[in-house]
Amino acid sequence: MGAVENVMRSLSVIEEKDSEINAFITVADEKALLRRAREVDDGINRGIYDSPLAGMVIAVKDNIMTAGLKTTCASEKLRDFIPPYSAAVVERLTEAGLIIIGKTNMDEFAFGSTTETSCFGSTKNPYDTTRTPGGSSGGSAAAVAAGMVELALGSDTGGSVRQPASYCGIYGLKPTYGAVSRFGLTSYASSMDQIGPFATSVDDCEALFSIIAGFDERDSNSIHYNPDSMPEKPVIGVPEKYASELICAIRRFKEAGIKVREFKFSFDIERFAAPAYYIIACAEGCSNLARFDGIRYGDRNADYCPELKARLEMGNLVLSEGFYDEYYIKASKIRRLIRNAYDEVLKGFDCILSPVVADTAPILGHYDDDRVKMYAADTFTVPANLTGLPALCIPVEKKDSLPKGAQLMGRAFSENLLFCLARQIEGMI
Ligand code: GLN
Repeated sequence: MGAVENVMRSLSVIEEKDSEINAFITVADEKALLRRAREVDDGINRGIYDSPLAGMVIAVKDNIMTAGLKTTCASEKLRDFIPPYSAAVVERLTEAGLIIIGKTNMDEFAFGSTTETSCFGSTKNPYDTTRTPGGSSGGSAAAVAAGMVELALGSDTGGSVRQPASYCGIYGLKPTYGAVSRFGLTSYASSMDQIGPFATSVDDCEALFSIIAGFDERDSNSIHYNPDSMPEKPVIGVPEKYASELICAIRRFKEAGIKVREFKFSFDIERFAAPAYYIIACAEGCSNLARFDGIRYGDRNADYCPELKARLEMGNLVLSEGFYDEYYIKASKIRRLIRNAYDEVLKGFDCILSPVVADTAPILGHYDDDRVKMYAADTFTVPANLTGLPALCIPVEKKDSLPKGAQLMGRAFSENLLFCLARQIEGMI
């Protein structure tokens, strides 16, 4: 199908479903989209694009700058902000012949797990609209799961691509730290933020990743991407405690002839990962958000949501004298111990299989009176951000008609192996 048809189809599904799902904050102007689609179709005919995704439509999370198209971070502070420039990933999508159909809903400034803190209202899970699609990139995941688009971008600081991918039954990758330029991504916690792809197939997810990955001098942590060599006979490790929860995926890997072995971490990651992550994320987040002071950016009269305020207070607290050593420094030390534990395990295994989240998508409002429970639910996703390692969510089962993913985490730059293994078990739900 050509780009024009893709745009028309996407707009009609958005029109039909988005009043209920609320995946989009902004849909681009139809005339401009069609103009762009005709240009892309022309380019495809002339053979100027290399990517198999040329002519496809994509949704982009609303914390990624799009020149001339509103970018709100789902915050009152930026409700009407139109950026003068585009993020590096947006430039790359455009060069590859993709069409940005609109900007997706999210938790305010990406601080959250449910998309409920958006000033534009919650996004609903297309599998069950009484439930959350997850967050913070919930709009992107829901747009793909509802068939409004086949591709989307999100950002993942502590699981915000993988967790909504799990709740919405699609693929979602948190790339190796530094693989994808963060230029033009609104920062949350700079030492962990990465932009990642969502897709309904492994091939599309991989093709989208290869478009957005690559060195960019405008991001000081960007690196030249050098794929890890592929092992001939990969061995997957599973933490023994979770093997029973991953039976379906393990069976499928074994049927495909891939070795899966159990192991035990030398460090209690489950106990320390989420607390260390939240201390570091709030600390970095509060210094990053200081720029929205109403002088250059942000509406000074607008307020943050209560969740964000609480986190900024916590960030200020852990960075203040007297608490700094006890919290921030300690969390940084724990971060190093977690990285060491993963490095040790990844000497013996090519990658690690684990849950993404313990459960399927919760009902909207589920965490209203227990925020700590919400933070604890990030236990399996945050290690990839604390360590910088890549991790992929693969849809593997359905429980009471709700999808659930499993996570494959590998060595730095081993995305090719993660995709290759995911392909072996594709189509489980
Ligand atoms: N749920 C995590 C948090 O609230 C992750 C958010 C993210 O990855 N952007 O910090």
